[in-house]
Amino acid sequence: MSTPRYAYFQGKIVPYAEAKVGVMTHALNYGTACFGGMRAYWNDDEAQLFIFRPLDHYTRFLNSAKLLWMEFDHTPESLTALTVELLRKEGEQQDMYIRPLAYKSAEAIGVRLHDLTADLTIFAVPFGRYVDNEEGTHATFSSWRRVDDNSIPARGKISGSYVNSAFIKTDAMLAGYDEAIVLNQAGHVSEGSAENLFMLRGGVVVTPPVTEDVLEGITRRTLMTLLRDEMGLEVHERVIDRSEVYLADELWFCGTGVQVAAITRVDHRPIGNGRMGPVVGELRKLYFDVVRGKVAKYRHWNQPVFVKEAVAAV
Ligand code: PMP
Repeated sequence: MSTPRYAYFQGKIVPYAEAKVGVMTHALNYGTACFGGMRAYWNDDEAQLFIFRPLDHYTRFLNSAKLLWMEFDHTPESLTALTVELLRKEGEQQDMYIRPLAYKSAEAIGVRLHDLTADLTIFAVPFGRYVDNEEGTHATFSSWRRVDDNSIPARGKISGSYVNSAFIKTDAMLAGYDEAIVLNQAGHVSEGSAENLFMLRGGVVVTPPVTEDVLEGITRRTLMTLLRDEMGLEVHERVIDRSEVYLADELWFCGTGVQVAAITRVDHRPIGNGRMGPVVGELRKLYFDVVRGKVAKYRHWNQPVFVKEAVAAV
């Protein structure tokens, strides 16, 4: 992956090489940071780059910061405007990944959240697939458990808690799987290392509720809308047992990075007939059209970067 040309850093857009922090930075030592991750999709027909649901991503981002006792003079709208400016400066005409990061910038020793300065940075890089196998992911149940709401809240995208995700991902990959499904402390299905999980069983779509130690995913919310309003399916948020996963007709991960990935095997057991099913197949197609700005009804989720349609949604 290439490095960005620019970054928003200490209040302005600077060359990426100038966006540096000292080794004593609190966030680097203690994981006291939170981040976001959104995508911008290039639409060839319109010669336009569209950021997908930036206001929702930045609302969650500021909420994660709030959990960490960080306050900024920013709103989801102002951060979206900054991101548009940054992407215009990068000038790329291809799919991009955007990473906002809020961090305890104080160069200070001592674990705490209070009485520490904080800052935020944004950078963006060209980005394609996150997992190689989006049409036939082989997942395993991780032997690690998801961080608990009373340890590090999974609903916040808190940097320190991604050590939990890193354990999960590395162990799954070293064991020959693409990804892992993680159980929470209660032994219920939560999510993947960096993606939410959906299952189709008996014609009904099911995903764990946000109280099951999952990130409140924007893709999750998007898919719930598309499944209900475009595909006419019932979507239930309820607790899922491990053994239900093995018996699912269809199963998929979703997230900004992974997009919508069909899980066709779990721990060597085929899901359904072991091939990508019709529901997730159709959902993927719809999702890719929506994120690229090709569905008029959902155009309000697509923030254009290059002028023409001004920065209307901001
Ligand atoms: N769960 C976790 C742990 C994640 O890191 C992500 C990626 N941000 C998701 C779920 C999916 O969230 P979103 O759809 O907002 O990208």
